Amino acid sequence: MAELEKDCLFCKIIRGEVPSYTVFENNDVKAFLDISQVTKGHTLIIPKKHLVNFFDYSQEDAARFLQYIPLVAQAIKKSDPTIKGMNVEVNNGEIAGQVVMHSHIHLIPRRGENDPISTPHVNNADKYSEDDYQAVANAIKNNL
Ligand code: 5GP
Ligand code: ZN
Repeated sequence: MAELEKDCLFCKIIRGEVPSYTVFENNDVKAFLDISQVTKGHTLIIPKKHLVNFFDYSQEDAARFLQYIPLVAQAIKKSDPTIKGMNVEVNNGEIAGQVVMHSHIHLIPRRGENDPISTPHVNNADKYSEDDYQAVANAIKNNL
């Protein structure tokens, strides 16, 4: 496959050189169990094109690869009646906790309050006024 890289772990998984537990696969994406199973059913969806993270995606890439997230999420939920919800997480860049530099979307099923969290979550809500929130939202909107 021309769009893959030789030494990338997830490209190796796509080529079958490194084994994985596939849950869904077609010409565009592969979904397989994350080795760490933060919770049971923790799945990764990856594009079959070596994109590092979302900063690498064109709009075409986004349409082509990200359309499968709900499909796989629904399949995971249906797979286990104890799953009540799911976190869909993407770490973009080392500073955001990205370790494997081939784009991947985490699907992490949630069953209860005692499920472990996957990344440290900090709550800064007490540091923001309503105006602060609005200013942040506007700054983002102005760039769309
Ligand atoms: P990141 O921190 O980059 O968002 O997440 C990388 C994820 O890849 C981690 O959750 C880690 O458990 C998973 N991972 C690392 N190596 C392998 C592997 O060889 N096989 C599978 N299935 N998952 C892996
Ligand atoms: Zn790759």
